[in-house]
Amino acid sequence: MPENTRIISKDNITKEIIKAFALLGKCNKKYPKTEDIIYYINLEKIIKNTLKKKYQGSYYSYNSLSKLVLFMDLNKMQNQSETERYLKKHKRVRKKLGLISAPDQSMISKFKNHYLTDETKEILYQIRDKIIQIANDFNIDLGVKRQKKKKIRWSTKQYHLDYEMKKAIKLLKGLLIESKMIKIRNNSVYSPKEYINLLIKMMMQKTYAETGSRQFRRDLKREIRMCKVCGKSLLYPLSKKVKKDWALNYVYCPECDYRERISPNGETLLYHIFSKFETIEKLMKDFELMFEKVWYRTKKYNLFREPVNISVDRTEIPFYGDINADGIEGKKPEKGTKFGYIQYTVYVSKFGRRYTLFSLPLIKFKKGIPESKFLYHQNLILKQLLIYAKRKVKIKYVLLDNGFFSSDTFNLINELGLKCLIIVKRKEKKIIQETEDFPSHSVFPNFKYGNCKITVFMIRKKTSPKNNPRKITEAIWRYATNVKPVGNLIEWADTMAKLYPKRGGIETSYRLIKEEFSPKTKSKKYIIRLFYFELAVLFYNLWIFVNILVFFSLFDDVKKNPIIHTLDFLQEMYHVDMPG
Ligand SMILES: [Zn+2]
Repeated sequence: MPENTRIISKDNITKEIIKAFALLGKCNKKYPKTEDIIYYINLEKIIKNTLKKKYQGSYYSYNSLSKLVLFMDLNKMQNQSETERYLKKHKRVRKKLGLISAPDQSMISKFKNHYLTDETKEILYQIRDKIIQIANDFNIDLGVKRQKKKKIRWSTKQYHLDYEMKKAIKLLKGLLIESKMIKIRNNSVYSPKEYINLLIKMMMQKTYAETGSRQFRRDLKREIRMCKVCGKSLLYPLSKKVKKDWALNYVYCPECDYRERISPNGETLLYHIFSKFETIEKLMKDFELMFEKVWYRTKKYNLFREPVNISVDRTEIPFYGDINADGIEGKKPEKGTKFGYIQYTVYVSKFGRRYTLFSLPLIKFKKGIPESKFLYHQNLILKQLLIYAKRKVKIKYVLLDNGFFSSDTFNLINELGLKCLIIVKRKEKKIIQETEDFPSHSVFPNFKYGNCKITVFMIRKKTSPKNNPRKITEAIWRYATNVKPVGNLIEWADTMAKLYPKRGGIETSYRLIKEEFSPKTKSKKYIIRLFYFELAVLFYNLWIFVNILVFFSLFDDVKKNPIIHTLDFLQEMYHVDMPG
């Protein structure tokens, strides 16, 4: 009967294991380890008659991969990538298990999940238990405990975190360096890497190009440089001889008088940005490409495959200089100024954080350039951002704040075939007046607003002021949408209202963009201001991306608070060693 031939009695397994221990004893090894006992087990004989799924790999034998699974089990190694790293480091273990090289993690998990039958798994468990039992009976220390200790050491969270963070950051910095954004002419003295590092330094130190470049140069001077002609180490000019600032910025070769400049100074950086981006269109095009590239990377991880809620926001960057400078708009008084730059940003809200898809400036130029060439109107920008977002993700709802409340917005959303939810504030007098006398939970389908029909609904919500969380007040909240209500109106309104907070963390993300990732500048040149803001948004994105990646590799899940501090991220970005 074929059934019977497949059943391997426990006795047979015991017999085989005792045999293996006997062979192990013969070789008189002082401290045998798990891989040594596995080496002597004739696994092929034990699992020979078990049902096997078609495994066609020829590079790693079925037998040695099964031994690896047994090894992992005995040493309580559950993580495949950890195992891969361990095997790469330990040639002896590989040899004992019969592996030519370290199989990568996907290979291991594929074998475990697809090729290893339940029957074989069961037998491997039995072998494991028997090995532990016999080792205990004969007082043989297989080093499982030592192994375990080691495992805890190198699987500590911090280790993994650093490893994953470095991996992700290397990828992103490579992307930055190879991007066209900082590409420079062939005869340029400095490489893109030097410009990028200088910009990161400015972010880290929250400083201007001038100061940042001095600190950057000091950093570089700590490194040893070699002469590109004769290979001798280069020297700095003696400080006594240095009379001018430019003399601080070179190294020379005492043998052949080869000279090299050290780092771009603030002026060079600004000149570089300014001459590279002659027009706003060119700058926005290059940044679009860059956002695209980073987005392409996130796509590989399937982070935003499901339909998502998106939101568009406006932010103001206060400006204190000459209000006739390009790009300056009037804004609500704040931090001692009524003027500033205006930026709009479209976000995906997921995992409790906001990933930026793109950001556009509001530009009304005065100096003889036709307005139609620029993004001079909010709705024009909203349209571009929504079209951009539509190409990237499947959109559930567009969540907007009161600043966008207009019939133009509703018409635009309808035109694009999207669904939106907008909060209604006090200043929408028409809506407030017409709904005021109704009960707190009311829905108004077909509400006439301007030239369009919308749905307005109100709900009563408990809130507490930020400065006094214990005080709870009830307030009526109004929302508007272009969606027709369905089913029970009250229930529908409640569900809809719950969407709005998903916009989440607007203040946090803008604060981080403006305070943590923006290099400072006093320049009046709009191109430079715009470059810095877009760069900050890009870095914010990279930071969010690294956080998500690290979360996934550590927990298979994204937790609420970011795992990597912005400064740690920047520091790693700065220090990671890249060619070029
Ligand atoms: Zn030399």
